[in-house]
Amino acid sequence: MIEKQPSCADDKEPGLLPVSEALQRIYRLVPRIQEAESVPLREALGRVLAADVASRIDVPGYTNSAMDGYAICSADLPAEGEASLTITGSAFAGRPFDGQVGQGEAVRIMTGAVMPDGADTVVIQERCEADGDMLRIDGSTAPAANVRYAGEDVRKGETILEAGELLMPAHLGMLASLGVSEVKVTRRLKVAFMSTGDELLPLDGGFREPARGEIFDSNRYSIYGMLSRLGVEVIDLGVVRDEPGLIGDAFQRAAAQADVVISSGGVSVGEADFVSDILHRMGDVAFWKLAMRPGRPLACGKLGDAVFFGLPGNPVAVMVAFYEFVQPALRTMSGVRHSQSTPPRFRVRSTSELRKSEGRTEFQRGILYTDESGETVVRSTGKQGAGRLSSMCSANCIIVIDPGRGNIQAGEYVEVQPFHGLV
Ligand code: AMP
Ligand code: MG
Repeated sequence: MIEKQPSCADDKEPGLLPVSEALQRIYRLVPRIQEAESVPLREALGRVLAADVASRIDVPGYTNSAMDGYAICSADLPAEGEASLTITGSAFAGRPFDGQVGQGEAVRIMTGAVMPDGADTVVIQERCEADGDMLRIDGSTAPAANVRYAGEDVRKGETILEAGELLMPAHLGMLASLGVSEVKVTRRLKVAFMSTGDELLPLDGGFREPARGEIFDSNRYSIYGMLSRLGVEVIDLGVVRDEPGLIGDAFQRAAAQADVVISSGGVSVGEADFVSDILHRMGDVAFWKLAMRPGRPLACGKLGDAVFFGLPGNPVAVMVAFYEFVQPALRTMSGVRHSQSTPPRFRVRSTSELRKSEGRTEFQRGILYTDESGETVVRSTGKQGAGRLSSMCSANCIIVIDPGRGNIQAGEYVEVQPFHGLV
């Protein structure tokens, strides 16, 4: 009788490593990059702040008008009826009014213009009537209305951004508003990656009809894409044949020049044996069987000083394992603060029935959309095979279903991780 071995097809298998535990182990394993460099502001986009930034100035730097209108003394606001003032000049953004505003006087003022001395209130132009140099106002404006005070957004000396901030467009704008033209960021990570497999046909030489049993190497392209989006330095080591000597050499070369080494393929049962032999000889690498689908096998550990990830070969499993484990690891190594290192999750209703086995986390491909009632909901992309890269292309999110849950009925809530956000 054939003795049944554990496999990805099993529903419940004891001893599988939960996804959350794997992630904790990865966080404990990876070092934080200490080296930092100063770069011009624009080059800091997508990088990680290496030191707190304190403001050298007040923002706004001077008290100014929040609206177009007339700068006046609040003492002139009539308790009832109207008051008549004399317009004595104008103040534009970048062209201040140099005189004093006394009682009974008003200065035409534009948004952003310096508040003239003596004035403390701006009456918006819609609430007054000008006729030549005469201005009529009523009492409907509150004293001190429509004025932005010096330092009300940022105080000189205040810490504005903290080390560990992943710099987005808003941060560039914020830093520019403080006059910061150079930013100290952590050094870029170097990540070497390769595909393993005798069946793989590299694209490097252009198109050729695959021979029987050959497939194009796609993982090196999706991995390249995911790495590039993270802003790391990529080192593409190509396709490596399933030969212990070649794989050993490639791992050695990769570990010598990179902070992180990523391979795909060769970690499933059958192939894992010789890859694991090599890795055990070269470093301290664990072969995990994860309670997840897709992406059950994952190798993780150290090759010399480099962090190593042996991803599964199946194209969807590669991407899921990358997003769930490698991306948080790379972000953490770059110094990104914890709350920004893992992808956000949201709860939405699924409009599809989802087949799911208990005992493992499933990462299914989904399409978020808005239904007729205006609610954001998710549906399945359909068949969920780990080799169907087309399901990743038609998806706009990953549906994450916890180990404790079984099949999901239409209408039940699930968690999703959207692919796109505001970047
Ligand atoms: P393995 O983990 O090496 O057994 O690979 C599992 C599956 O993924 C097999 O069907 C492989 O042909 C496929 N695969 C492995 N590497 C790649 C790659 N670089 N591009 C596309 N498919 C791959
Ligand atoms: Mg293989």
